[in-house]
Amino acid sequence: MFNNIEEIDDLVNKHVQYRQSCLNLIASENYSSPTVRNHLTSDFGNRYGCYSTANPAAREYRGNKYIHEFETKTQNLVKDVFGAAYADLRPIGGHIAGVAAVLGLLSPNDLVLEIELKDWGHGLVTLMREASHLNQSIRTDFIPFDEDRAVDLPKLRKMLCELKPKMLIFGGSGMLWPEPIAEIKDIAAKEGIILVHDSSHVNGLIAGGVFPNPLEEGVDVMFGSTHKSFPGPQGGFILTNKFEMYEKMGNTLGASLVTSHHLHRLPALAVSMLEMKTFGKDYGTQVIKNSQALGMYMEKNGFKVIGSGKGYSQTHLILADVSEFGSGLEISKLLEKAHILCSDDFGQLDKEIRIGTAEVTRNGMQEGDMQFIADCFQRIIVKKEDPSGVAEDIGCFTKNYRDYRYML
Ligand SMILES: *Cc1c(COP(=O)(O)O)cnc(C)c1O
Repeated sequence: MFNNIEEIDDLVNKHVQYRQSCLNLIASENYSSPTVRNHLTSDFGNRYGCYSTANPAAREYRGNKYIHEFETKTQNLVKDVFGAAYADLRPIGGHIAGVAAVLGLLSPNDLVLEIELKDWGHGLVTLMREASHLNQSIRTDFIPFDEDRAVDLPKLRKMLCELKPKMLIFGGSGMLWPEPIAEIKDIAAKEGIILVHDSSHVNGLIAGGVFPNPLEEGVDVMFGSTHKSFPGPQGGFILTNKFEMYEKMGNTLGASLVTSHHLHRLPALAVSMLEMKTFGKDYGTQVIKNSQALGMYMEKNGFKVIGSGKGYSQTHLILADVSEFGSGLEISKLLEKAHILCSDDFGQLDKEIRIGTAEVTRNGMQEGDMQFIADCFQRIIVKKEDPSGVAEDIGCFTKNYRDYRYML
């Protein structure tokens, strides 16, 4: 237990120092700028925005004339960055945004196609079905992938025509490539399939214009997190160009899933949107260059990198099959001892690790620096060097990268 403020601050500071000594390659995290962080502590954090309706102007809650104006202006900024007609900023994370889309748009016994956990899916609907009522009312099947972890388009087309799902959710936690949205848009329209994109991972790249915008490509709904490749505060949003869907999802979200929508996020979100308007293209371009360089150096260093025949990645992450050296979990734990943080696949195939480049890019790293990272992986995993020695070298290396970039 904590007895005083010093003990509380001490542990927070230990965490900060520890994380500064690490190479953070966790693809679902990012470094938000000091300006974004400073905008998390306003008075908004102790107020209620009122939870009914996505439209702040229609809400009744006293004392909120500026809060409603603030949320509306932030909505307009988000709509501008992502080219959407409607934005709901109330989801407190990408997951809850997705739950609202699924519960708001589906009817009992509908079939949803999503990405299976073993293909680095988030498992949104699969996990919702752990609730027995939902298990009885929603059915799931899975999007097929090829050996490069790209959507297997011929197989998917066949599934859509045969199974006629009500909803298809593209976008997972280990995305390497843009999905074939334009290619299936016509089938979806013909079969009445709602096309959804879970853009949690790639929102920063979409904002920077370096990953195709799913709404422009033809999805009905796009939802996701604001803190992965998008370097904002933790939170989520739902975007659509269809008013009817916006209302249905919004009415499901509030008040069944969210009541307080954690207003402290809004000023920080607005700042991070402006950052992406200013720097998003440069940031996103460097992120992808770094992923591709890291894929190349990892392969040179003896790793099996997924999608090597296709240039490794068009996103902020690469996937490496490390099964010849150990399980994904074992390898990620070993790397952690050397202060390299990356992700295993949470007990699915347990063969791959996921390595993200968003945060190191914000730290100022470029293609050449990816060689140092790939060499650290090789020293630990292939040469089986003592992790503490590598950790020391990483501590020295990261000291040169406090030159945070792409920030207002
Ligand atoms: C992280 C993630 C989510 C969940 O987002 P939170 O912001 O953590 O709630 C949803 N979908 C995918 C594909 C994710 O990777």
